[in-house]
Amino acid sequence: MSRSAHPAGPRHADVMTEGHYTAPPADLNALDAKVWARTVTRDEGGALTVGGVEVTRLAEEFGTPAYFLDESDFRARCRAWADAFGRDADVFYAGKAFLSRAVVRWLKEEGLNLDVCSGGELTCALDAGMPAERIAFHGNNKTVGEIERAVTVGVGRIVLDSFQEIARVAHVAQRLGKRQRVQIRVTVGVEAHTHEFIATAHEDQKFGIALAGGQAAEAVRRALTLDGLELIGIHSHIGSQIFDMAGFEVSARRVVQLLAEVRDEHGVELPEIDLGGGLGIAYTSEDDPREPHEIAKALGDIVTRECEAAGLATPRISVEPGRAIVGPTAFTLYEVGTIKPLEGLRTYVSVDGGMSDNIRTALYDAEYSVVLASRTSDAEPMLVRVVGKHCESGDIVVKDAFLPSDLAPGDLIAVPATGAYCRSMASNYNHALRPPVVAVRDGEARVIVRRETEEDLLRLDVG
Ligand SMILES: *Cc1c(COP(=O)(O)O)cnc(C)c1O
Repeated sequence: MSRSAHPAGPRHADVMTEGHYTAPPADLNALDAKVWARTVTRDEGGALTVGGVEVTRLAEEFGTPAYFLDESDFRARCRAWADAFGRDADVFYAGKAFLSRAVVRWLKEEGLNLDVCSGGELTCALDAGMPAERIAFHGNNKTVGEIERAVTVGVGRIVLDSFQEIARVAHVAQRLGKRQRVQIRVTVGVEAHTHEFIATAHEDQKFGIALAGGQAAEAVRRALTLDGLELIGIHSHIGSQIFDMAGFEVSARRVVQLLAEVRDEHGVELPEIDLGGGLGIAYTSEDDPREPHEIAKALGDIVTRECEAAGLATPRISVEPGRAIVGPTAFTLYEVGTIKPLEGLRTYVSVDGGMSDNIRTALYDAEYSVVLASRTSDAEPMLVRVVGKHCESGDIVVKDAFLPSDLAPGDLIAVPATGAYCRSMASNYNHALRPPVVAVRDGEARVIVRRETEEDLLRLDVG
């Protein structure tokens, strides 16, 4: 990802960091609506509030670190996606971004479907009452046990990821006397990341079956002959944190081309195409994500145009946003501990969590922003790196940000846009206790995933 120079050019407090200029925001206390959940604001005293509840109160009641999720924002985003895609399309929330029983109930109430990719996620979904027919089962290495369970409960679709799996699912379904609805996941030779997409010549990755070399066409051929399978469509997922629709354009074109080949060869028009997820969100003010209705229109136009050109009826489209729904709805609240100024470099601000509650910075070099949350400050900006308390120098939460120079131990700071892939990827590194997720709505805060306790850790340690 490339970050452009600050439009105003270098200013007095600008620091050259890792090849690009970073300038402090004009107002360190300001909240950029792009990166914060909808109800987040500051109250008269200057403290951050979410759903009408002050973070100082939340920290007292629930401790830190903790994730605070704006339930009304989550529901609004679900509705925005459902409305944007309308009746002729299906929205599947990608559960791996963050899944809990409360989330499943919200999805169900707001009319969304759900992607799962493990037996554990399937259990959570079913336990919270998601109808099996609204669940899609994904994964590149589903176990036979998982397949049996998915077929038995009657999931709406299994997305087949390999030749072996086509045979496996067909076999299981036949043995159970069922006909399983399936899609075939293809790799279209496009990989999208953020502002760019890359056309890859080689499908050098573990997911899907390549369109190249006729492999996907062969997969369709096999699936159509197997009694246990009802092939309903083709699936393609091209990447994550995507802003540029060009990758989807290429992907849709190639999938539609396959549908046309299938029609020509078998006389069958597959009724569905799934274009996957991966839609980007704003982690910092420099990101400009698109609204669901723009995405829906762009995808709808592409598919309609390509199908018209190929003489096909427009198939039913589905999409699978995970990050775009849950990512912006939550922030992580930390308490500041040790503050270590490194002369001429930056100030290291240590918090009471770290890579155990947000691995994305270490794993993907992800960018985040941060604000002082328990109060406002008029102090000069200082360049900081927010780091965790783990035994790893790569234990960084926010690489490069500005906080007021009067920051002190005991202050609360908040990192926005941590709703996706933070709690769901959390670990117990250093025997850290994974933080709670607290849903806040209309002045009330409710734990939906509780904080782990030391007893939880010791319970698994049976030696
Ligand atoms: C991860 C994943 C998604 C969701 O990706 P986001 O970036 O969270 O939108 C959707 N579909 C599939 C198949 C995935 O693997």
